[in-house]
Amino acid sequence: MCRHASWLGAPRTLASLIHEPIHGLLRQSHSPRLQRHGTINADGFGMGWYDAAHAEPVRYRRTIPAWTDANLAGLARTARSGCLLAAVRSASAGMPIEETATAPFTDGTWLLSHNGRVAREAVRELADDAESSCDSAWLAAAVFARRRAGDPLGEALAEVVTRAGLKDPRARLNLLACDGMSIAATAWGDTLFLRLDGHPRDGVLVASEPLDDRPGWLAVPDHTLVLASPDGVRVQPL
Ligand code: GLN
Repeated sequence: MCRHASWLGAPRTLASLIHEPIHGLLRQSHSPRLQRHGTINADGFGMGWYDAAHAEPVRYRRTIPAWTDANLAGLARTARSGCLLAAVRSASAGMPIEETATAPFTDGTWLLSHNGRVAREAVRELADDAESSCDSAWLAAAVFARRRAGDPLGEALAEVVTRAGLKDPRARLNLLACDGMSIAATAWGDTLFLRLDGHPRDGVLVASEPLDDRPGWLAVPDHTLVLASPDGVRVQPL
């Protein structure tokens, strides 16, 4: 399982997900605490954020371990946005290690990451094509096909996860996605946490595992969809 994290709220830098918290994604790339599959996330990393001048996000992804990218700290310190998503990857057996297999995937205004594993036959019929043969790229393509059909973010995730989950009962389908104004995430076979600091409009963190040891992290039950927007956070069963 890879690890991922997202922020929606007052503008912050990507370093607030990766470098600043004691158990941020940089630490999780070599020492995750709650990871059930795999012990290290060294097969690449990626991050996405929104710039005020463009609706579509900026995206940066590499196939090297996060701790070996000498440019990452400077970039993450200055990339600031009210909506952020970052991920570190542990490639599943048989999956290619290439940028196109690395989260976040993006289409239009959406960014998406996957923690888990799914039989590719279970998702291939949900999309015409994918940028990589990696299972996560096919899941992303399936979600993006729903986007193009007009589905809102949460509905697109719920639809793809329930359909893929039916076809592959052993699948682990933790998806995390955002569109610049909201976050949607699924807990389906792996851990997911969220954290509110005051009112939801002040900000919400959604992550595979807590980024620090402060109290207030809430464990999301399995088979659940989380929807976060400035109006509030909803958690609903899938
Ligand atoms: N199956 C995906 C991949 O190979 C995600 C892996 C993971 O969650 N560790 O990239």
